[in-house]
Amino acid sequence: MSNILIVEDETRISSFVQKGLRAAGYACSVSADGAEALALAQTGQFDLILLDIGLPTLDGYEILRRLRVDDQITPVIMLTARNSVEDTVVSLDGGANDYLAKPYKFDELLARIRIRLRDRPAAAITELRYGDISLDLRTRRAMLGNANVELSPREFAVAEEFLKNPDQVLSRGQLLSRVWGYDFDPGSNVVDVYIRYLRNKFGADFIETVRGAGYRLK
Ligand code: CA
Repeated sequence: MSNILIVEDETRISSFVQKGLRAAGYACSVSADGAEALALAQTGQFDLILLDIGLPTLDGYEILRRLRVDDQITPVIMLTARNSVEDTVVSLDGGANDYLAKPYKFDELLARIRIRLRDRPAAAITELRYGDISLDLRTRRAMLGNANVELSPREFAVAEEFLKNPDQVLSRGQLLSRVWGYDFDPGSNVVDVYIRYLRNKFGADFIETVRGAGYRLK
């Protein structure tokens, strides 16, 4: 069952939306406070967030901004003021997936929610494991056994490629293309540098060098 976070400080609206979503078969939670909503959203337990703009403690834009800075990719539908082009533009620029101007029809809200949840791979893998190493793809946290391992977003992306392809040798070119988006070799040793970072963090045995071919998980 998809889990939706409703962030709305007008009780009348939030209870109406909550009732409607529950009737439509969704699980949902309501938060009427910006800071609380951000903390809830950061848990990664929601499949979609409905986000009002005017809220106590933190406004909707700020919540969205902080989520996206954290690499949180949960779909967000902003609920903007009617006819405010500015709200709309700021919302979409800030990483919202969609917006709906108030007052909206509940059926339209449901339709937008269905679209956003359909876009999202339903049975998306949320965790990768290899030996003692696990990567939580929602929260972007890495663990070695029971210990948290601090990774930069790029280090995480490199580790993710290896854990997604545990038996394959990954060439420098493949890593450059998948992680850095380069279709050419910029002639730097950036891949080797990141392999070294990951070996430092997960142990020297984490990745082995396959001479002349690339790297592989070990
Ligand atoms: Ca409001």
